[in-house]
Amino acid sequence: MIQETKIVELGHVISGKRIYKGKIIPVFNKYTKELIANVYSADEQTVKAAIDNSVETFKNKKLSAKDRYDILSKAAQIVSCEKNELALSITKEVGKSLKDSLTEIDRAIDTFTIAAEESKRIFGEGIPLPNKFTDEKKMAYTVRVPVGVIAAITPFNLPFTLAVHKIAPAIAAGNVVILKPAEAAPITVMRLVEILEEAGLPKGFINVINGYGHEAGEYLLKDERINMYTFTGSVGVGNHIKNSVGIRKVTLELGSNAPNIIHKDAYNLEQVAKLCATRGLATANGQACISVQRLYVHSEIFNEFKDFLVDAASTLVVGNPEDPNTDIGPLISERQAERVENWVKEAVEDGAKVLIGGERDGAIFKPTILTNLKPSMKVMCEEIFGPVISLVEYDDIDEVIKEANDSKFGLQAGLFTSDLNLVMRASMELEYGGVIVNDVSTYRSDWQPYGGIKDSGLGKEGPIYAIREMTDEKAIIINYQ
Ligand code: NAD
Repeated sequence: MIQETKIVELGHVISGKRIYKGKIIPVFNKYTKELIANVYSADEQTVKAAIDNSVETFKNKKLSAKDRYDILSKAAQIVSCEKNELALSITKEVGKSLKDSLTEIDRAIDTFTIAAEESKRIFGEGIPLPNKFTDEKKMAYTVRVPVGVIAAITPFNLPFTLAVHKIAPAIAAGNVVILKPAEAAPITVMRLVEILEEAGLPKGFINVINGYGHEAGEYLLKDERINMYTFTGSVGVGNHIKNSVGIRKVTLELGSNAPNIIHKDAYNLEQVAKLCATRGLATANGQACISVQRLYVHSEIFNEFKDFLVDAASTLVVGNPEDPNTDIGPLISERQAERVENWVKEAVEDGAKVLIGGERDGAIFKPTILTNLKPSMKVMCEEIFGPVISLVEYDDIDEVIKEANDSKFGLQAGLFTSDLNLVMRASMELEYGGVIVNDVSTYRSDWQPYGGIKDSGLGKEGPIYAIREMTDEKAIIINYQ
């Protein structure tokens, strides 16, 4: 029996109501290319209506810490019960493997759970104010107050968990949220909104406007009643948001081209090579901001490591992402796969050697490892955002740390070594928001502060740290006799 694919209609959410208005953007299954949804792109009037409602909600309604804890905990439970359905929905709209989508859902559950716990402890601090010149008797304390209306603008590659990373801490801290999901993958996140409603989030605490970034997203930037923007996406759009919103608060989680250094004393090279292949080529099909991209390997172990890496890459299963055995599916669009192909071709024309892969089949780009590279090649200095690893041999650890730092990006770096002194030194010298020792740059725990320096961003995520960003620390100073 042929099963007909149901085409879903996705509108905007304002005060709990679904509004189907605006241009229609078709959303396709990235592997089968079937039409799976029509999403409406919000016009200026709809965006204004969403902002009006969010401002009203923040002014007139409050959730207690207990309410916030209950809602976020309940949302974690519902997500947990629907894990398989949610993962399948992500796989269809993004094209990444089912295993990868399941990992994404696990992270969303953790993020909700941590945010729920943190909603109980939005604390300030006490500061005595002794002044030796005037002998003043003053005491200060601080309280953390919600910033107000937060616009959360999210990307396609982890469409569910990266939205949870913004919504959960925003609610935990007592804010209201306007979500603008990525137009290429807006389906699963709309179920997230329903889940929050089922978990007891009252109307207006989350409003959603769907649509094109340059229209729906842009209208959000113009309205000064929005108190904060939390954005995950490309450097270009992040920069544009920062330049557009003036003095209002911004956090930016942007791109990178993560370096990973495998020193000569790293242990279990075969394991390390497998980890690099999986987390550089298969995680989100290489479309992860902390993907292993530049891989620097010490000359004493280079050949052995290279063979392990190529072997590991050759075992990755490429194909239908809904098949539980698949590791790598299509990229978000054929246009993006063509871009990756062009960057690889350019590198080859400039002397790079393809150890494995290099071919494209529609939107699928085969897992690729390149060597004989120059720092000026795009595959080395830009964010590839596809399943491509650039493998580089080095002799001198100090030189390679300099090379790793010689980048406009600074999100996370990986270092493998058994030398404690090198761990301590390199982790301080690597100019990155996070340094992962004896694991790859692609590691992210939802408990850690996460965020980049340089062009990789501004501010931190991870519910504990995002709550700090999403609150203002207000000082209260008391004079006593
Ligand atoms: P993108 O920048 O193209 O889009 C991200 C979001 O911004 C989308 O919702 C889009 O509609 C919106 N947008 C686009 N133009 C806008 C405008 N003018 N005003 C307001 N909103 C606008 O990014 P993408 O292609 O969806 O995602 C890939 C990028 O995201 C990569 O660079 C990747 O490194 C980055 N990323 C970073 C992290 C991190 O945590 N640092 C995580 C995931 C992805």
